[in-house]
Amino acid sequence: MTGRGTDSKIRLENVSKRFRDGTVAVDNVSLDIQAGELLAIVGPSGCGKTTTLRIVSGLERADTGRVYFDGVDVTDVPAEKRNVGVVFQSYALFPNMTVVENIEYGLRIRRVPPAQRRERAGQLMEMLKIAGLAHRRPSQLSGGQQQRVALARALVIEPAVLLLDEPLTALDAKLRDELRVELQRVLKRLGITALYVTHDQAEAMCIGDRIAVMNQGRMVQIDVPTNIYRRPATAFVAGFIGTTNMARGHLAAEGGRLYVDVGYARFPVPSTTKGPGEELTVLFRPEDVSLAAPGQEHFRGRIENIFFLGDKVRVFVRTFTGEEVIADLPSESRVERSTDYPFQVDAAKLYSWAEETA
Ligand code: ADP
Ligand code: MG
Repeated sequence: MTGRGTDSKIRLENVSKRFRDGTVAVDNVSLDIQAGELLAIVGPSGCGKTTTLRIVSGLERADTGRVYFDGVDVTDVPAEKRNVGVVFQSYALFPNMTVVENIEYGLRIRRVPPAQRRERAGQLMEMLKIAGLAHRRPSQLSGGQQQRVALARALVIEPAVLLLDEPLTALDAKLRDELRVELQRVLKRLGITALYVTHDQAEAMCIGDRIAVMNQGRMVQIDVPTNIYRRPATAFVAGFIGTTNMARGHLAAEGGRLYVDVGYARFPVPSTTKGPGEELTVLFRPEDVSLAAPGQEHFRGRIENIFFLGDKVRVFVRTFTGEEVIADLPSESRVERSTDYPFQVDAAKLYSWAEETA
């Protein structure tokens, strides 16, 4: 029995991969992905995302560890027998085939009868809004259209698992935003289990039911987007996901309450297992900072830069200790550069942990 008492669709168990030149691309990674789940793997370039995906697809062999699909050990099963669909950053469409021929290709080599091929390709083209392009060749399509075709081509075989490696990275920003919303909708509608690799944290937040943050071959944190954002496991996660204010200081007790003294401010922290003298990292986001009524401030600081962003004003504040704090203020805020203001931080949103920042 190769199953491991799990109902996970995909399971990676202590998977590692070291390349011949000594590079450790994947370092003891374990993952569980449930049926119908979209797991976004996010991390900086070179952290091992693509290698992880290739190991799941069977294109790459792990040195150690096992891969399971539906509880069945597929570690030694070749890529073409895994029923996996893949979409890469480069569209890799067949240039000499039309859109519909490209999409039907996977069904043709599986000897699915023409009528059935047409029907399934038609449904996907409809869903991905490319029905009108059926008889064009890839060279006659925009990047976004090509990527829709690539997606349809991967989905047409009804893969058990869909792997996407930075599928939107080559597109321009606006198209990327549009397509990722649509992509998420299509994948959810099909109930497909997918691993979505990206270096773009905003994309990961949008697509992922859960997010796996990867760094230097390791999975640093795997959790739902709100926890990744609000309760990052490490300073790396906090710094990589979203815009972050972080400060380090020592715990102090006063009047039965605990504070972290970060130099420019004393932030209240909720009851913690740590005692006075302990060192903590405090995290708060720009949207947790606001202008304070005089006397109510956590700190004062000089606004050095102001960026009007439409829905908000982002200001860069210099504290008297020389730290920089980023604050998002309501867009109607009347603040001026080179002026001191009192600021407060929403205490309920402060998050702290004892891990080293290094
Ligand atoms: P990502 O997709 O997160 O950018 P990769 O998985 O492509 O990262 O690569 C992880 C690490 O492994 C990088 O340091 C990369 O240079 C290295 N690497 C990837 N493929 C190979 C290979 N075939 N031979 C040697 N090193 C490789
Ligand atoms: Mg990659």
